[in-house]
Order: sequence, then structure tokens, then C-alpha cells
Amino acid sequence: MANENKLQAIIAHAKEYGFVFPSSEIYDGLGAVYDYGQWGVELKRNVREYWWKWMTQMNEQNIVGIDASIFMHPSVWKASGHIDNFSDPMIDNKDSNKRYRVDHLIEGFAETLAEEEGKALLADMDKYIAADDFAGLKQLIEINKIACPVSKTVNWTDVRQFNLMFSTEVGSVAEEASKIYLRPETAQGIFVNFLNVQKTARMKIPFGIAQVGKAFRNEIVARGFIFRMREFEQMEMQFFVRPGTQKEWYEYWKSERMKWHATLGIDSAKYRYHDHVKLAHYADAACDIEYEYPMGFKELEGIHSRTDFDLKSHQELSKKKMQYFDADIDPETGKAYGNYIPYVVETSIGLDRTVMMLLSEAYTEEDLSTEEKQDSRVVLKFIPKLAPIKLAILPLMKKDGLPEIAKELMEECRQHFKCFYEEKDAIGKRYRRMDAIGTPFCVTIDHQTKEDQTVTIRHRDTMAQERVHISEIKNIVLQSL
Ligand code: ATP
Repeated sequence: MANENKLQAIIAHAKEYGFVFPSSEIYDGLGAVYDYGQWGVELKRNVREYWWKWMTQMNEQNIVGIDASIFMHPSVWKASGHIDNFSDPMIDNKDSNKRYRVDHLIEGFAETLAEEEGKALLADMDKYIAADDFAGLKQLIEINKIACPVSKTVNWTDVRQFNLMFSTEVGSVAEEASKIYLRPETAQGIFVNFLNVQKTARMKIPFGIAQVGKAFRNEIVARGFIFRMREFEQMEMQFFVRPGTQKEWYEYWKSERMKWHATLGIDSAKYRYHDHVKLAHYADAACDIEYEYPMGFKELEGIHSRTDFDLKSHQELSKKKMQYFDADIDPETGKAYGNYIPYVVETSIGLDRTVMMLLSEAYTEEDLSTEEKQDSRVVLKFIPKLAPIKLAILPLMKKDGLPEIAKELMEECRQHFKCFYEEKDAIGKRYRRMDAIGTPFCVTIDHQTKEDQTVTIRHRDTMAQERVHISEIKNIVLQSL
């Protein structure tokens, strides 16, 4: 399937089967804001919980979690550099009045060129971005006659920086109100709580603090479904290390995060690392883990060596010490390492971008036609651990005591994992509906069940069916999770 078609098919399927709806749809939606429906929310929760468990429970490193608030003191964003630096170079088309992120505009154009030409253009772009050379960027757009997709003209303004933070006001009376921001990343909630956590949990370096939560960015060109949203969720972990060891830990987390991805059952060829050409103001090394979305390889997760930038800036602005006392002995001096501001290695992955990856990966159209009849199905091949529903329990008929047996099984299984019960429609139709939302197992209860307590279990991907004793069902599902 052509890639653009695949993306459109996934968006349509996600809506039709209750995964993702456009926000406020009855008012024609709100750009780059989406709502998760009944199955989308389960999928998203499963991913969130799996990441959380992997970080805070299964990981060899010492990592605990927090849940900081979205609103923070405005000085946080001054110290972090977001007020001064969190901006992207933008350009406006004077005919359509549309605004574009310069890198998106050039990247979009590069995709229409032959491979080598496209690469050369992107290399030039990277050079100008790294040098903050806005005039150079504009020239690149003009020389290449890159037109606005709406007006089709090359009538551009100069390139300017726009801040991506949303702001609002706290305080009920206008005069007393003060401007605050919706957090553009969850990381700062971790930095400002660094000592609270370190002291109350008696954490020893190296250690990590994990957090999952909403972040907000006024993305100017929001394209690509839930890939680029204005309100989204991040799963971030800040790992605090001894100064001088950050390079090792950066490499460690790069490879460790890839291991997590490997457990999602996705072909490793669909991932790649992409080193940053222009480092953010806080980083001494940074790379992205990219996944091959239907739109091509795009950033899914960032691994950043953030130095001591954030803690140091907070210490300077708040006048509160952000130091850690390291009692371990430095073999070089024979003395304790003593007080220092730790260095930080961050892993930051978008929850929505992970859901989009899983939808892209799972979405499969299958032609099941035989000589006798045409047939096809759409199946979402999620790994059972992440599937919204693990087991569908389907009595073949609505009578003869079959629903009673089914409900008993439902009662037993729902204590352990998410089940779905349905008695309406022909069994074939019910199977297809479960395929379409990615349910790995369906169990059918029929008349034979009454005689020998066996049921048919159907496997989603192979559509193979087998007869097993009803008492085995729970364990078959549990073993797959
Ligand atoms: P991009 O270059 O795509 O704008 P970024 O480099 O600004 O992303 P980071 O600041 O590193 O992103 O944020 C960490 C992660 O948060 C990203 O890897 C991505 O998964 C997620 N993320 C960032 N912006 C968005 C967004 N607008 N919508 C959804 N997820 C996002």
C-alpha cells in the first residue's frame, strides 16, 4: 500500500473503531488535538503502564517515579531556557498567510527530489540551522523555489523565531493575574523535585526519576495525525550521574532504550538512531531514536545528555542549592567525591508517537479470497501485552444455557485481564470486529461445551482454531501477556 494511503487508512480505521477521534469533532475539530476513544485509551494505558513498569520496577538501575503538576512557577521556564530559546525558525507565506516551520517546509520539498539532490538540500539546511543563519535559510527556500503548498507562490516573509509555549493567567482579578505557562516538557517537574526525591527516598547516584504526563506545544504546522499534537503526553526519565560519567551513561541509555523497543515485537530494521547536528542549549550529546512511520523515518524518542545545565540554572535563579553529597571515595584522590551538581542523561519518548507507531505496525489488510468467494479483513496485530482487549468471549447462540457458561468464564477471566463479551451477530462477523481492534484471542462456547466443557479458541493472527478445555483458557491468555 502506498504510504500516504496507509496513513489515511490508519487514521480512518482508528476513528471507525474507537481508537482516536478528532477533538471537538462536532465543531469540526481543533487542529492537532485528538481524543482517545474506548480502545485507544486502553492501548495508551497499556503502553504507559508497560513503560512505567519497565523503568521503575524491572530496570536494573535505581529509578523512582513522580507526578508533578502541569503548571509551574514561571521562573522554572526562565531558568530552563524555554522563555528565551524554545522557538523554531518560521516563515510566513504572504499570499496564503500560512506559517510554516522552516525545516518542515524544506524537508517536505526534499522528499519530492531525487535522493541525492534531496540529501544535499537537507545537508545545506542543517548547516544553516546549526549556524542560526536565517538569511541563509530564506535564500535556500528562494533558490529552490519552494512554494507554499496552499498558495503555490514563493512570496515569503523573512525567517523568524516563534516561541512554542502556551501561556495563561493565574489569579481571579485581572490586575493580580500573572502569566504562567503550560509545561512544554515534563522534565522540569523532575529537576525542581530532584532534592525532594533524593532526600526522601535516600537515593544514591546514579539514580533516575521517571514521569509520565501531558505537555503542550504550540506547534505551528501540526501534521501527521497523533505524531505532532499541541497537547500530548511524554514519558520521560532523568538519570542523575556523577560529572564526567555522562558519556558512558548516554551510551548505556541509548542501547537500553533500544532494548525496550525490541520487546515491542517490532522489526529492528524499522528503527534507527539519528545524531543531532545542532545540539539544544542544554546538551553535550543528543540523538533520536527514529521509527519508520508511514510518512518515513521520524523521531520517536530523544536521548539527551543534558549536562548540569538545568540543575545549575535552577540553583542560580532560585538561590537554593541543587547539590548532592557523594560519600563514595574517588580512587584518584582517595577522598570522597563530595558536593556537586549532578549531570543528567534523559530519555524522552512521546506516548502518542508510540501509540502511532504501534497502530502503524499493527495495521494489516489481508486478502482472504478463495476460489469460491472474495474476502478480506483488517487486523491489528498488537502484541497481546499491549492489546486493548485480551480475550473475547462469544457464546455461539443467545440460548440453551450458552450465555450462562460464557458469563462464568467472563467472571473468572476479567479478574486477571480485560475481556469482552458479545452474543449478537454471526460468529464470523464477531471475529472480524475483534480482529479490527486487535483482540488476540476469541473463545466460542457452543453446544459441545455443555457436554465436555471444551471451547474453541481462535488465534487472531493465524485464525487457527483449536478445541481446549474451558479451564485452560485463563492460563493460555495469561501466558501470552
Ligand atoms: P520534533 O523535532 O519532532 O518537534 P522534539 O525534538 O522537539 O520533536 P523533544 O523535545 O525531544 O522533541 O521531545 C521528546 C519527545 O516528545 C519526542 O521524541 C516526541 O516523541 C515527543 N513529542 C515532542 N513534540 C511532540 C508533539 N508535538 N506531539 C507529540 N509528541 C511530541
